[in-house]
Amino acid sequence: MNIFTPHLFRQQFPLIESHGNSLIEKGALVPSLVYFDNAATTQKPQRVIDCQQHYYQNINANVHRASHQLSTKATFAFEKARSLVQGFIGAKSVKEIIWTKGATESINIIVQSLARNTLLPGDEIALCVSEHHANIVPWQIVAEQTGAVIKVIPITDHGYLDIEQIDNIIGEKTKFVACAHISNVLGRINPIEQVIAKAKAVGAITIVDGSQAVAHLTIDVQSLDCDFYVFSAHKMYGPTGIGVLYGKRALLEKMSPYQAGGEMIKTVSFTQGTTFNSLPFKFEAGTPNIASVIAFAESISFLSPYLADASHAYKFFEQKLVQHCYQALANIEQVNFIAKGTPDIGVIAFTLTGHHNHDIAMSLDTEGIAIRSGHHCAMPLMTHLHIDGCLRVSLSAYNTIAEIDYFIACLKKILLEEPFSQSDEQAMKEEL
Ligand code: PMP
Repeated sequence: MNIFTPHLFRQQFPLIESHGNSLIEKGALVPSLVYFDNAATTQKPQRVIDCQQHYYQNINANVHRASHQLSTKATFAFEKARSLVQGFIGAKSVKEIIWTKGATESINIIVQSLARNTLLPGDEIALCVSEHHANIVPWQIVAEQTGAVIKVIPITDHGYLDIEQIDNIIGEKTKFVACAHISNVLGRINPIEQVIAKAKAVGAITIVDGSQAVAHLTIDVQSLDCDFYVFSAHKMYGPTGIGVLYGKRALLEKMSPYQAGGEMIKTVSFTQGTTFNSLPFKFEAGTPNIASVIAFAESISFLSPYLADASHAYKFFEQKLVQHCYQALANIEQVNFIAKGTPDIGVIAFTLTGHHNHDIAMSLDTEGIAIRSGHHCAMPLMTHLHIDGCLRVSLSAYNTIAEIDYFIACLKKILLEEPFSQSDEQAMKEEL
């Protein structure tokens, strides 16, 4: 059975439905919103919004603490969500699923609770040049704290982590290898299986940043055999402020708590000190984001069937959108893609000869089109590519071919209306 149908999928997103439907303007059909910033955050289906509201209206109570029925109900829903995440990524145990604020916090926990306590001066950390700042800055801080050194894996012209180079980067001194499954700018599925295998061969710990992968790929952490996998709910149709740190149990057991307070303790005494709770609670100090955890479970229930569907209709439709958008952009003379070839997911980044990224994004915004311009939290990648920023179109399966055509038509119109000559550019530089 084909469970994915583009218009039925789209209909489930109220913000898209209410703002994205066509308006008649000057006799032409114009959408009031074309949302192409899905790599930053996705819109939420009605059932996820309803679920969060339902929790506050019907179940709201603190979890794990009270013996009353409401708390039991909240705890049940909260822990059921953890089991759902376990199944979603194929983890061995629920104890390996830690709730965090998002991918950023997950990486910071690994860095401060594990890397900080194990790295020695001269030890090496390998990162890819295309990492998001969330997977760079925590490592820079720990390198400063411990005397460890960061080594950078380059990318190919096609935007993939350059697997040919890893033998030069990952070696006996490497203790941690952290890289994105998919970069938020390049949109390529990195060969992380090979990176993990190489890291294992030298005894390094592997961290995969799955932030951009979870809405598009089926993840199985056991077959990947990575030590850690991190992601945020809001990039997979779930709420903001909630994410996951998956870690192999043996490693999580060894790690010290990240934050301290209620929930993460077993016993507290002024004379005997404190003993910590078992996994996963050891890493979950304080009252968690209960409503978002429960709504996150709803987003997993929403997304999972599309990803698991044997006909791959969801994935094929996403691919169709990517191909269409990429090809249409490729036909515009001024477009320079930041990497060669079509991306693997709907993340398409480019610059425009003779035009400023920000001006273009602002002009598109006046046409109701939301795209992103800037460094996309990947400044080292921009430096590597010798650009100071780029435009990024990021697509979801609720987008349409018609929206892409509208975007391309608007972009062409703007390019005609706002020719920005090289001499203007030179004059501006001189003024600065
Ligand atoms: N890594 C990647 C590849 C991302 O795209 C993002 C979000 N843009 C993050 C990490 C950080 O995610 P969050 O802000 O949800 O913690």
